[in-house]
Amino acid sequence: MVTRAEIGVIGGSGFYSLLDDAEEIEVSTPYGPPSDVVTVGRIGSRSVAFIPRHGRDHRFPPHRIPYRANLWALRALGVTQVLAPSAVGSLRPEIGPGALVIPDQFVDRTSGRVQTFYDLNGAVHVSLADPYCPTGRSVALSAARSANWETIDGGTLVVIEGPRFSTRAESRWFTANGWSIVGMTGFPEAVLARELALCYTSLSLVTDHDAGVEAGEGVTHEEVLAFFAANVARMRTLVSEAVTALPRERTCSCGSALDGIKLPFELP
Ligand SMILES: [Zn+2]
Repeated sequence: MVTRAEIGVIGGSGFYSLLDDAEEIEVSTPYGPPSDVVTVGRIGSRSVAFIPRHGRDHRFPPHRIPYRANLWALRALGVTQVLAPSAVGSLRPEIGPGALVIPDQFVDRTSGRVQTFYDLNGAVHVSLADPYCPTGRSVALSAARSANWETIDGGTLVVIEGPRFSTRAESRWFTANGWSIVGMTGFPEAVLARELALCYTSLSLVTDHDAGVEAGEGVTHEEVLAFFAANVARMRTLVSEAVTALPRERTCSCGSALDGIKLPFELP
């Protein structure tokens, strides 16, 4: 593969394009095709590969997204750092629509999703105590703050299976556990990124309050999409700022996630 990129962006609901004058590349992977053609272009002096997580026409619901193919395709293109914008619901009254959360933890409440590349020929146990890249998080935080975006540093993203939204009881339980936001795509994406030794940073845009939160009346998919669409231009600018601010040399430990582990096959 000739075209290379150093930074990957996986766009969420409503975020279907990022790069102008980009080359469209059909990447094939051992896990089938990614959500869509990958567009590769430049932001400033950085080469970037973009994948719309749900496909450009939003054809993949959260539980059907080809997560493994998406991450594999990015690594195959040379990507080492991934920024992952997504729409989330807030589990706290004080975190309202429009806030940007850069979570530092997640809790998996999905069921039945394939969550590993390494399911044959030996076990591979990666560390996931801190699932997100510390460098990516701090870059995203400062980019958001310089854009005067209401930004929350840290918090736990609970990932539900979907496609349905939470019941009030589930939502209240999540809040009672101290979790901050709820989404449907953060897992297994973060895990698969770590399994490929990629840096991964979640940029979680709050679109609404979840059903059990005071002031939360529950949401419709249309409302989420409309809100996210209204914020896409802002998110695109933020992602571009973060891309140019990411360091070229990685000093975090994400790249060493597989050191000393015998892999059952070669990574791209
Ligand atoms: Zn990292």
